[in-house]
Amino acid sequence: GLKKKEVHVLCLGLDNSGKTTIINKLKPSNAQTQDIVPTIGFICLSQYLICQAKADTEISGNTTTNIKHRRLPILFFANKMDLRDAISSVKVSQLLSLENIKDKPWHICASDALKGEGLQEGVDWLQDQIQ
Ligand code: GDP
Repeated sequence: GLKKKEVHVLCLGLDNSGKTTIINKLKPSNAQTQDIVPTIGFICLSQYLICQAKADTEISGNTTTNIKHRRLPILFFANKMDLRDAISSVKVSQLLSLENIKDKPWHICASDALKGEGLQEGVDWLQDQIQ
């Protein structure tokens, strides 16, 4: 049968970019929070069971967090795509020069975390990467 495996996902982004909203939407509906208060700080670390897959990640260390990695996949969300002046995911990848990332698999999705659009596409990609 299918085996569930816990994986560690590190979620990084600018303040107010939608990290908490994205993580919240990925939870089962009965575990979702209705009111999201913008996260203070610059890092949001979430441990979340997303799929049946073999984790390729080890997080260790006490004062510092040391991430040992082998081809850790990186998923980018170009979030808030619903905003009128939002730029496309293609343009975002150009602005961030993502094509220069040669040693890791990466993927970018446009998303609207309020409606939940684009999130599943990203998670499906991530799931494929960590099988
Ligand atoms: P965080 O600081 O990165 O955790 O950002 P939050 O998840 O707290 O979101 C910051 C604000 O942006 C909140 O008011 C969210 O409702 C809003 N927000 C998040 N995602 C979207 C989106 O896709 N579209 C729009 N229009 N607003 C969003």
